[in-house]
Amino acid sequence: MNAKPLGPIPPGFATLDGELAIGGLTASALASGGTPCFAYSRSMIEARMAALRAVMPERISIHYAIKANSFSPILELMSQLCDGLDIASGAELAMALAAGAQAARISFAGPGKTDAELEAAISAGVTLNLESEGEAERALACAERLGARPRLAIRVNPDFDLRGSGMKMGGGARPFGVDAERVPALARRIIAAGCEWRGLHIFAGSQALDAEAVIAAQGATLDLAARLAEEIGAPLPALNLGGGFGIPYFAGDIPLDIGRVGEALAGRCAALPPALAGAELAIELGRYLVGEAGVYLTRIVDRKESRGETFLVTDGGLHHQLAASGNFGTVVRRNYPLAIATRFDAEATEVANVVGCLCTPLDRLAERAALPRAEVGDLVAVFCAGAYGASASPADFLGHGRAREMLV
Ligand SMILES: *Cc1c(COP(=O)(O)O)cnc(C)c1O
Repeated sequence: MNAKPLGPIPPGFATLDGELAIGGLTASALASGGTPCFAYSRSMIEARMAALRAVMPERISIHYAIKANSFSPILELMSQLCDGLDIASGAELAMALAAGAQAARISFAGPGKTDAELEAAISAGVTLNLESEGEAERALACAERLGARPRLAIRVNPDFDLRGSGMKMGGGARPFGVDAERVPALARRIIAAGCEWRGLHIFAGSQALDAEAVIAAQGATLDLAARLAEEIGAPLPALNLGGGFGIPYFAGDIPLDIGRVGEALAGRCAALPPALAGAELAIELGRYLVGEAGVYLTRIVDRKESRGETFLVTDGGLHHQLAASGNFGTVVRRNYPLAIATRFDAEATEVANVVGCLCTPLDRLAERAALPRAEVGDLVAVFCAGAYGASASPADFLGHGRAREMLV
């Protein structure tokens, strides 16, 4: 039986007493409070931020998109490490404020904001990234009812997208943002209505590993923003350039060269057109900041054979790891990076399927993976679990409940 490759284990994980270790604790120690669980490494997140700061031009602010991982200790850490938090719901607004983030450093994007969400955001003083003309009118009406001056930016649906991106969020007809050609009229309307004008938000896509694609999208974003600012007739106070920095999940994926991205951005920043010269520039990232720093640990509860194949059945599954199961925005299922955490230094000696405990054939954590022989009681680690794991999986499905989360 041929093995299918596993994704690359992110660098930086240690072995202790033969086991995977995170923050100086073995997988067994981390799992002692119960499985399944997520362990997030504080030092890996700090190192990632430091490495990013080192290559990005100083004038670029780094924002964290909290939908990637909204575990409250992570939010507290990210609100200290980053220059701003980007939220996409009223519930995330409450979480960001509870984590101690200043309202002035929070921006709220996302289609379908309700009046209650708009009011909460305006009362708190966060920036609204308007997704449509209709939302703009509702925001202005909410502000009038509240007697408040809203901080408003416009999310632009650009006329290009991020090449090679896993999830396209710009270009063509989209539910996100206002079509670029309609932005100047809307900006003039909300500025005339007396809002605090906060500029533009242009997010072209997600999960890009190709530096040239990111550089091209950032260049196109700066060009578009400059053109729109000219047409609006007012300088841009702020421009959120989006993000889209990806991480390697699958065999053959090559990490994004952020040094190249930083260098190109520095070149552009050194020669900004007048319309952008005074703008606060930001990028917003989710998975790149936290994805590789998280591991999902689940215990093997059964080992069985079926018609010549081995199945390791765990107490976890797609209710915590929808993306690893291949059911969150992927067309062809491929294996995430995964290991037997309690035999981290052992050689692969068999080919096995790792499945979850849900009664659905979709619940696969690894297909035909080459692994050391594992027994009931061993722990499985799924890597790249720091983003879109707990926050993007259907935890109620089949009633097993949420996984524990820890920042260590
Ligand atoms: C989801 C999202 C992000 C974060 O995407 P990542 O791929 O996690 O970096 C950033 N900005 C917006 C507007 C988003 O919707």
